Amino acid sequence: MNIYVLMKRTFDTEEKISIGGGRIDEEGAEFIINPYDEYAVEEAIKLRDEHGGEVTVVTVGEEDAEKQLRTALAMGADKAVLINTEDDLEEGDQYTTVKILEAYFEDKEVDIILGGNVAIDEASGQVGPRLAERLDIPCVTTITKIEVEGSEVHIERDVEGDVEKVDTTLPLLVTCQQGLNEPRYPSLPGIMKAKKKPLEELEIDDLDLEEDEVEPKTKTIDIFLPPEKQAGKVLEGDTDEQVKELVSLLKTEAKVL
Ligand SMILES: Cc1cc2nc3c(=O)[nH]c(=O)nc-3n(C[C@H](O)[C@H](O)[C@H](O)COP(=O)(O)OP(=O)(O)OC[C@H]3O[C@@H](n4cnc5c(N)ncnc54)[C@H](O)[C@@H]3O)c2cc1C
Repeated sequence: MNIYVLMKRTFDTEEKISIGGGRIDEEGAEFIINPYDEYAVEEAIKLRDEHGGEVTVVTVGEEDAEKQLRTALAMGADKAVLINTEDDLEEGDQYTTVKILEAYFEDKEVDIILGGNVAIDEASGQVGPRLAERLDIPCVTTITKIEVEGSEVHIERDVEGDVEKVDTTLPLLVTCQQGLNEPRYPSLPGIMKAKKKPLEELEIDDLDLEEDEVEPKTKTIDIFLPPEKQAGKVLEGDTDEQVKELVSLLKTEAKVL
């Protein structure tokens, strides 16, 4: 099977986010594989081990994403591709990313593409479904179980805590949800092997794309942090006094009564 994983490098969820000049400040921040994409890598490896074939992990990003691609190789993926936009593009949005991925997949024989349900930083959840549409293949989102039998695919997907069963066929794009699997940690031999696995680097030029073809269709107007939480108030006195004060505060401060 030709198995592909869409992988995004994102902020570490433990990072404290700071904003400068209307942009998220990346200086000194730690980056990780988008956690939903770890489920995609794990499932891709399992599918390959069961059905044979090859797992290729693809990232649209900058040079630094090589680290996360090497981690995916250390987990067990066979090949990695970095479509490096660093020198060519200053701005990008979901349109840009999908347009680049579409061009990449144009001459590929694909059986299945696995992506994350959502990226934890910008969280639009658009890239998977939009790419499937452009490639004209079926798309099933938020999957929690997948079984491939020949060209038939049986899927369970998470629908707000309930399970929906979907049957479809290859070629296919799925987006992965928590609960699909437990992503493995790279083993030491895995890390050693990953250093020698192929990591191809492409630029948009190699995909016959011009800069104006991938110009973003959206513009981010502003990015800001939510207002800081005020310290809570502890009411004192006996219950009657506390109730009176609470009602008064709800009227005068919270203005909800
Ligand atoms: C040249 C360029 C410049 C950019 N500049 C900025 C910027 O200045 N500011 C900014 O905030 N954002 C920038 N971006 C990022 C871009 O706006 C979105 O982050 C990106 O399109 C993904 O959207 P999302 O985070 O909503 O992903 P979602 O649609 O939520 O992601 C869902 C899944 O899609 C896949 N996916 C998403 N992104 C990628 C990727 N890059 N490569 C491979 N798979 C992916 C993953 O499987 C992921 O789990 C830039 C992108 C490009 C290409």
